[in-house]
Amino acid sequence: MFREMRRKNQLLSQEDVAAVFDRGTNGVLACHGDGDYPYAVPVSYVYYNDKLYFHSAKSGHKVDAITKDPKVSFAVVDEDTIVSEEYTTYFRSVIAFGKARIVEGDEWIEGFKALVDKYSGDLPEEANIKEIKGCKTSHIIAIDIDHMTGKEAIEFVREKNKK
Ligand SMILES: Cc1cc2nc3c(=O)[nH]c(=O)nc-3n(C[C@H](O)[C@H](O)[C@H](O)COP(=O)(O)OP(=O)(O)OC[C@H]3O[C@@H](n4cnc5c(N)ncnc54)[C@H](O)[C@@H]3O)c2cc1C
Repeated sequence: MFREMRRKNQLLSQEDVAAVFDRGTNGVLACHGDGDYPYAVPVSYVYYNDKLYFHSAKSGHKVDAITKDPKVSFAVVDEDTIVSEEYTTYFRSVIAFGKARIVEGDEWIEGFKALVDKYSGDLPEEANIKEIKGCKTSHIIAIDIDHMTGKEAIEFVREKNKK
């Protein structure tokens, strides 16, 4: 059921899509919000074990939306460089479609640890463990990915083809 990209020469490999998810520091979660309006909300996340994980308060628009309908998409912009003389931007972005679920047990700890590892830089391990233990009030939400694609500006494709 997932659509094919019209401009196939700009399609990223699955490996390149995973690399963008790995290095991204925020993404926009799109879910089925109140009154059937799509709700697009930015979050920090980690790509771990082929899934996306983010943390969230236990109540709010986002949690209500994914509880009502777990189908979501998640977009990350990797590059967006304005090239004014060409009236364009050189871009690269990825989109995942999947189902969101609130995780529990060992997966909660693993997901939280993966997030803390990504965002804590060089902080000592003990400080990270303290942070995880102190955050029991947060949900960890996983997105099980059904389909993911990436697209980049034709100029990036041309540069790659030259190599
Ligand atoms: C770069 C970035 C990273 C973030 N990382 C995380 C994260 O990892 N986890 C997390 O839980 N939150 C994160 N946030 C905050 C997140 O965007 C939401 O504000 C937050 O999750 C609350 O969402 P909610 O649906 O529960 O809010 P609610 O307060 O229930 O939302 C009610 C209404 O408030 C408005 N609203 C909520 N959030 C925003 C927003 N960000 N911008 C504009 N209007 C808003 C919307 O109109 C929404 O319908 C991040 C934000 C940014 C910009």
